[in-house]
This record gives sequence, C-alpha cells and structure tokens, in this order.
Amino acid sequence: MSKRNIAILGSTGSIGTQALRVIEENPTLFKAVVLTAQSNADLLISQAIKYQPAYVVIGDTSKYNSVKSALSLYNIAVLSGLDALCDVVQLDEVDIVLTALVGSAGLKPTLAAITAGKDIALANKETLVVAGELVNAMAKKHGVKILPVDSEHSAIFQCLVGEENNPVEKIYITASGGPFRGKTSEYLSTVTKIDALKHPNWVMGAKITIDSATLMNKGLEVIEAKWLFDLDISQIDVIVHPQSIIHSIVQFEDGSMKAQMGLPDMKLPIQYALAYPERLKNDFPRFDFIKYPELTFEKPDTVTFRNLAFAFEALKVGGNMPCVINAANEVAVAEFLNNRLGFLQMSEVIENCMTKISFLNNPNLEDYLETDKETRVYARELVTNYKY
Ligand code: NAD
Ligand code: MG
Repeated sequence: MSKRNIAILGSTGSIGTQALRVIEENPTLFKAVVLTAQSNADLLISQAIKYQPAYVVIGDTSKYNSVKSALSLYNIAVLSGLDALCDVVQLDEVDIVLTALVGSAGLKPTLAAITAGKDIALANKETLVVAGELVNAMAKKHGVKILPVDSEHSAIFQCLVGEENNPVEKIYITASGGPFRGKTSEYLSTVTKIDALKHPNWVMGAKITIDSATLMNKGLEVIEAKWLFDLDISQIDVIVHPQSIIHSIVQFEDGSMKAQMGLPDMKLPIQYALAYPERLKNDFPRFDFIKYPELTFEKPDTVTFRNLAFAFEALKVGGNMPCVINAANEVAVAEFLNNRLGFLQMSEVIENCMTKISFLNNPNLEDYLETDKETRVYARELVTNYKY
C-alpha cells in the first residue's frame, strides 16, 4: 500500500481523535495533511503541533487569530470558515477525506471532495441521509469510492467483499437499543440529558449519543445503508443486539448469512476504511467468547421509539423527506442538550416538521439546502412555543 494523505474534517471529535490514533500507529502508511475543528481551538492547536499537517481549518472565525498565532512558528497554513473546508478537501496532496464532522454541515465539503476526485471515508452519515441520491450520482460521475466508517455499514461492506456478483436478499442492521432499551414512554417522559448521554457500549459525540438513545441513529443508518448499498427499503431490517458484538449481517439469495463481529471499537472500521482493501495488523483488544456467553436479539420498539419509524417512513416517501427529518432532528437534539426540550418532544418536533415542510419529489442541491434551512427555522419556532 502506498502512503495515503488524509484530510480529517472534524479531527477534534470522537471519530477524528480515534482516526488520529490509527494514523499515529501506522506512520509509514498514513499522514494527516488537513485537520479541522469547529470550535475546540485548543485541541486543534495541540493536534496540529503533534501531527504537523499542511493545513488546519477552524470553523469558528472568532478563533482564527488565536489558532494562527499559536501555530505561527510552524509551516502550517491556518484557514477559517465553511468555504475553507470546501477548499482544503480539494488540495492536490489529499488522497482521502475522512468526514468526521457532525450534521448536514458535512454535505458541501463532501461534495467538494468528490468533485475533486477524492475518495471519501464517510463517518458523517447525515450527508447521505440528506442527499444520498445526489452524493451517489456525483461519486459515480467522478469515479470516487465512498468507504463507510459507521460500524454497521463497515460490517456490511466487509461482508460484501468477494460477493460482487451475488445479489443481496436483505441486510440486518444491528442496534444496541441504547440506554433506554425496554423502557416505557412514561419513563422516557422523565429522562434527562445526563441519562441519555450514558450509552451502554460506545463513547461518542453528544449528538450521535442522543440519537442512539432515541433510536434516530438507527433510522439515519437505515437511510445511509440504502444509499451505500443500493437497496430497496424492503431489504433493510433492524435488529436489536444489546451486546454490540455483531456489527451487522448480510443475507444472500441462498439464505446464507454473513456477519462481521468484534468488540465495539470504532478504530477498526476507521482503519478498514483508510486502508481499504487491506487489513492492517494491530493490537486492538480481541473478542473473548467466554466473556460473552450470550449474544441476544430482539425486535426494536418503534411504538415507543418513534424516530426509527419516522426514518422508515421518510425513506418510503423519498424526495426531500429524509432531509426534513434530519434537520428537524438536529434542531431537536441541540435543544434537548440545551435543556429546552423533553426527550419525547424530540419526536414531536420531527413528526410536526414532516407534515408541515413543503414536499419536493426530485430535489437538487439548492432544494436540499433550502429544505434544511426551512426545516430548522420551523423546528426552532416549535421549540420556542413548547412549555418545557
Ligand atoms: P463529535 O461531536 O465528537 O465531533 C464532531 C467534530 O466535527 C468535531 O471535531 C467538531 O469540531 C466538528 N464539527 C462540529 N460541527 C461542525 C460544523 N458545523 N462544521 C464543521 N465542523 C464541525 O462527533 P462524532 O461522534 O465524532 O461524530 C462525527 C460523525 O461521525 C457524525 O456524523 C456521527 O454520526 C458519525 N459517527 C460517529 C460514531 C462515533 O463512534 N462517534 C460512530 C459512527 C458514526
Ligand atoms: Mg453506527
């Protein structure tokens, strides 16, 4: 494998920092050439000093001067703002762009990277939820690979190796069930953000952790899988597997099922995407059967956890509906984290947006951006009117 230069969008986050560990472990194979962060300037500065990228981008323009002066002794270009993200992903020295930023903010830089012919290691699932069809069309046009980082999608991707001519009958996306698995709506009406931020198996950024508690994360992953693997909605099923050892399953037309398993550790899918198609030796902890005498499975409760049902509905409706639920969810989660919205009210906001935002059957990029904006404005209005 020749050395790969990587641009990490969102290097200060959960995926970004784990990706830097993978890069650090394989200095002859990987080099971080671009690091970016939205507001954590201190961590971005220390990462830049340690990894010596050619470029850093700080999203929050008010922090530009402090990052610039902290790095003035180094040969590191410092940029700021969203446009800069779209520029740095297109640089000649970049081979792969790891999209580890959160939310639909990932859409424009991902499209910019694809346009410049860069392969994408995709953690930022919201981009595919918002505009999967468009992203796929662009990726095809520019001949770039979209390599999944999300553990379930990496699992499916790994199960499909060598099966290029064998049609998939269906996939099972596994879900941990989150911290509130088995709880009633009555219970959920009283939970706080502190409860919701305690994920049983994974340590992740705040937004995806809340999405895991509401099962919206699984809903977003269903939509993500549709676009990554070109599946019909009827071919996608979700199964709750609380131990998070089986990361997902592919069932072929002869009924054979392939599963990918291992301890829950995002470094593995990150490494697989960056090194694809090679597998790199590492010393990550190995799975021990004796410590897991039981792997269990159950049906997801979409009556209590309505967001998962909304995601299936949005996928069925198509058009800009997945974009609507994503934007409504981003606002709802942010407001829940700001203590301005209850846990169950997050679903109410999404449901309301699904009925109120104008439906577009064949949206283009401008339409998606407009839908995203319109939905956010409307969702925020809803939250303002809530008595919480
Ligand atoms: P995080 O909150 O820990 O980190 C987000 C990163 O993106 C930070 O570096 C932040 O500075 C940057 N960022 C945030 N908002 C931004 C904006 N508007 N513009 C530019 N940069 C911005 O999030 P995370 O848990 O690392 O998740 C990142 C993405 O990966 C999400 O889409 C998430 O769904 C996906 N993902 C995460 C995990 C996980 O284990 N954390 C697993 C699967 C998928
Ligand atoms: Mg996942």
